[in-house]
Amino acid sequence: MLRTHTCGELRESNSNEQVTLCGWVQRSRDKGGLMWTDLRDRYGITQLSFEEGSTPAEVLETARKLGREFVVKATGTVVERYSKNDNIPTGGIEIKVESLEILNGSKVPPFIIEDDTDGGEELRMKYRYLDLRRNAVRSKLQLRSKLAMAVRNYLTEQDFIEVETPVLIKSTPEGARDFVVPSRMNQGEFYALPQSPQTFKQLLMVSGFDRYFQIVKCFRDEDLRADRQPEFTQIDCEMSFVNQEDILNTFEGMTRHMFSAVRGVELGDFPHMTYADAMRKYGNDKPDIRFGMEFVELNELAQNKGFSIFDQAELVLGICAEGCAEYTRKQLDALTDYVKRPQIGAKGLVYVKCNTDGTFKSSVDKFYSQEDLKAWADKADAKAGDLILVLSGTTNETRKQMSELRLHMGKELGLRDKNTFQPLWVIDFPLLEWDEETKRFHAMHHPFTSPKAEDMALLDTDPGKVRANAYDLVINGVEIGGGSIRIHDRATQQLMFKHLGFTEDEAKAQFGFLMDAFEYGAPPHGGIAFGFDRLCAMFGGSDSIRDYIAFPKNTSGRDVMIDSPSTIDETQLKELGINLR
Ligand code: ASP
Repeated sequence: MLRTHTCGELRESNSNEQVTLCGWVQRSRDKGGLMWTDLRDRYGITQLSFEEGSTPAEVLETARKLGREFVVKATGTVVERYSKNDNIPTGGIEIKVESLEILNGSKVPPFIIEDDTDGGEELRMKYRYLDLRRNAVRSKLQLRSKLAMAVRNYLTEQDFIEVETPVLIKSTPEGARDFVVPSRMNQGEFYALPQSPQTFKQLLMVSGFDRYFQIVKCFRDEDLRADRQPEFTQIDCEMSFVNQEDILNTFEGMTRHMFSAVRGVELGDFPHMTYADAMRKYGNDKPDIRFGMEFVELNELAQNKGFSIFDQAELVLGICAEGCAEYTRKQLDALTDYVKRPQIGAKGLVYVKCNTDGTFKSSVDKFYSQEDLKAWADKADAKAGDLILVLSGTTNETRKQMSELRLHMGKELGLRDKNTFQPLWVIDFPLLEWDEETKRFHAMHHPFTSPKAEDMALLDTDPGKVRANAYDLVINGVEIGGGSIRIHDRATQQLMFKHLGFTEDEAKAQFGFLMDAFEYGAPPHGGIAFGFDRLCAMFGGSDSIRDYIAFPKNTSGRDVMIDSPSTIDETQLKELGINLR
């Protein structure tokens, strides 16, 4: 090794030792006769010291040439510092340098490589390799590595086998657009990059692997939202001879292990909630249940009292914001503006203040008596000092709008502490989802998800009502994982494709291999996949998954560092048989 120690290692107890350190120059201070240089590596920062008179002249001369981010090797003696720096673990010592070698120079970096940098997002992404030198960024990837290790340890311990599945495959319908790769050897034909290894992991169950997992890259060509990446990582898992409870228990175990091993957090209960209840109580299939504020349906109490907006509504919904009766006009206006924003789209907001003197003051006093409002308050469990907020309209829209308002109030009231973790299993998802655009049903999860046996008959009469053996793990209102018990026989799989609008030939062409496999002794099986990037971000207390990816793409799907995607030259195109004109 070129060095004896790292830059994060030495303490007062090492005093008088001869050591050699390697690293990058973070900064130097030259006070004439005295000079100090902070040397940085992945492990920390150690101060090098040079002194006219005692440091050899040629060493001093080299030291004066050092610029930011030069790579150097320094040998010297560990000495205790006069004025210690309590902010860093090595702050008690410095190295009196006796020999100094510049291993490589550096141009002046485009931004300062310290925790507080002056570099903007775009610049840091262009020079991501420099950004990754910063503690704050690198530590996020270390967290990621630790999490991956915790997952591997846990699953291996539980007899799961990690298997790599191919990346050049054919389209898997996970609901998004595929990335495709042209084939040179089979011109005019294309591979698709996997949106997930779904069909392969099911085939591994047919092969008798029994328990599979993979920490795997998946690709989806979607318009990017703030927290989406075209390539992302899943913890992908599948098990045979299990029912839904077995899967929920196994992955509750894995989640508990990750939290305790990596964050030192012992998670509490993992309650189960049906999709229908989640929608009814929270208007959301991934409710944040760190706080209450459940929806209350006020139709019966609020309709037929002369207020036409409520009378015409399919649903009148209230939530109770505890202790908010004193909200000012201005605060209430701000809430109204919030729900009227185009992204939320409510027409207005009705409020009822439950005054501390037992009276009520509402924005609809003209239509409702004190007794009427008291009945609302009773139904909403509102006490004196609370504020009831009411929205109305069609069921789906009102629920969605109220869900946003609830989350907003939760944030305003400090009920969404990022150091509190509340898991929740959402179960019994609908099998199918109506798509207005294409005017047909889509698989809500994917076409391999099994319907609940007791709902099978509804497939022909009321397909939208059929529930699936599908589940999501939600933590703090974020969907962390999702999966299902699969179909494992040809006839049911064929029936499913039929309901999804595939002709028999289309189904055979696309998924014949899977249905064929089902005819050779497919065991009952099911599984789940976790969004690994998002899990990392949650562990790190951040909203952005990009911070937890070493080389992420920007919101236009570009890698600005390597400048990709890019054009390719004529010969390459010709070889692929692609004519762009
Ligand atoms: N393949 C599914 C997904 O990517 C997960 C699963 O059903 O196991 O969402």
